[in-house]
Amino acid sequence: MVKTRKQYMRAYCAARYHRRRRVAILFLLIMRGNDGCALCDGPGPFVIDHVDPATKTDDPSRLLTRPLRALWRELRGCQALCGACNYEKMKRDGAELRREWWARRRAA
Ligand SMILES: [Zn+2]
Repeated sequence: MVKTRKQYMRAYCAARYHRRRRVAILFLLIMRGNDGCALCDGPGPFVIDHVDPATKTDDPSRLLTRPLRALWRELRGCQALCGACNYEKMKRDGAELRREWWARRRAA
């Protein structure tokens, strides 16, 4: 089947994105010495999570399409979590961020 350039590039970029994502998650598991989720040791599929959301400078899923140097730098503060743990942590982190926001607002 002959593809247009646009179709070719779409498939190429999607494949590259998912390849990089797999490698990034493997990197996080190896870096932290886990073979499962960083919190519950459970099986994947995994998501990329910032251990401390305050250190977040960019979204890893966005960096997957950028030069790799920025991605590796961002991944140093990240861990691989299973979906359930990420959901629980997201709720906690969200509550914390809201508390800080209100504290700043009261101080102002
Ligand atoms: Zn987990």
